[in-house]
Amino acid sequence: MLPKFDEMLTQLVGEPSVSSTTPEIDRSNLRVIEHLANWLDDLGFETHLMTLPDAPHKANLVATSGSGEGGLVLAGHTDTVPFDESKWQTDPFTVTERDDRLYGLGTCDMKGFFPVAIEAASTFDAKKLNAPLTIVATSDEESSMAGARHLAQSGTPKADYAIIGEPTGLKPIYAHKGIAFMSIGLQGASGHSSNPDLGCNALDSMHKVMGELIAFRQELAQEFTNPAFEVQVPTMNLGCMHAGDSPNRICSHAELQIDMRLLPGMDTDTIIERLQERLQQVIKHCGTSLTLNTHYPPVPPFETDIQGDLVQLLAMQSGNAPGTVAFGTEGHFLQSLGMETAIFGPGSIDQAHQPNEYLAREQIAPAEEILRQVIARYCVG
Ligand SMILES: [Zn+2]
Repeated sequence: MLPKFDEMLTQLVGEPSVSSTTPEIDRSNLRVIEHLANWLDDLGFETHLMTLPDAPHKANLVATSGSGEGGLVLAGHTDTVPFDESKWQTDPFTVTERDDRLYGLGTCDMKGFFPVAIEAASTFDAKKLNAPLTIVATSDEESSMAGARHLAQSGTPKADYAIIGEPTGLKPIYAHKGIAFMSIGLQGASGHSSNPDLGCNALDSMHKVMGELIAFRQELAQEFTNPAFEVQVPTMNLGCMHAGDSPNRICSHAELQIDMRLLPGMDTDTIIERLQERLQQVIKHCGTSLTLNTHYPPVPPFETDIQGDLVQLLAMQSGNAPGTVAFGTEGHFLQSLGMETAIFGPGSIDQAHQPNEYLAREQIAPAEEILRQVIARYCVG
């Protein structure tokens, strides 16, 4: 017997699955995956655990009901962001209901999507599906996106359509920007501040680098715009800098971290190469050496046709016009497997990545009903 919605959500939220590039707080997602696999197994899904090659404590789940060509994927991530317990009014790992809101870490982003998808799927008899329905649960979306990258590399899953159930307030999302976090390091040489010739000042070089970054940002904004976005141009934020140790020492090392968000249609690798060349050029005569590293592989921008069948179906079913969002998703990776992919799920991104995260109960039933309509269209036909 499939547990009730609240029971499923309670079990999923009760399994800590923070993902982080900081190893001390990074957790396995296997317990979340096991719950999902058990429930889906009971519903007659064929469940397949994909352990990540470099991380035996992390896995994706691919669970399929029915067979044939085409079909639909309902996908979500099993991990959550880290949390600040002191700012929570309830236990983040216990689902607590108050004022028709279900509070708990990951309730809206996005463990809550799984019981929605599973309940919607449970109303269909596998024998009546003439195209496969696949539920996918990934790892590490909030950190490296290693789970989705692994899916893309493995060529799994295959279907015609995919919905990623991130919290969009039941609005179909057809595009978002890409995200690249980068560190720019400058290595010079220290020396006594009284004579500049005794060293090579990394902060002097950084001044040139920052000027060039701001110039590059302005050029990109002139070259690329997309009126579908609230911020219509690609952005670059100079976020933090660490450099030097004393006013009377020549600064030998400086590091600047930036966040670049590119529009759909921009090729991330090409832009980063262009950036690197320009920075190397601008410090050529400084005597410092420059390194540019991405924190983890960038998340590419995502866009699908606003007139696509799935986007239009979700718009019609929800009564919400298709739109864009400012956050990144696994959209690019599922799309690269050949599926028309849309982002659509219950809950609001405003509550995600925050203390006292919650899923509004009123979103659950409409989300399930819409998913049932989509399953009926693409898997029952
Ligand atoms: Zn999310």
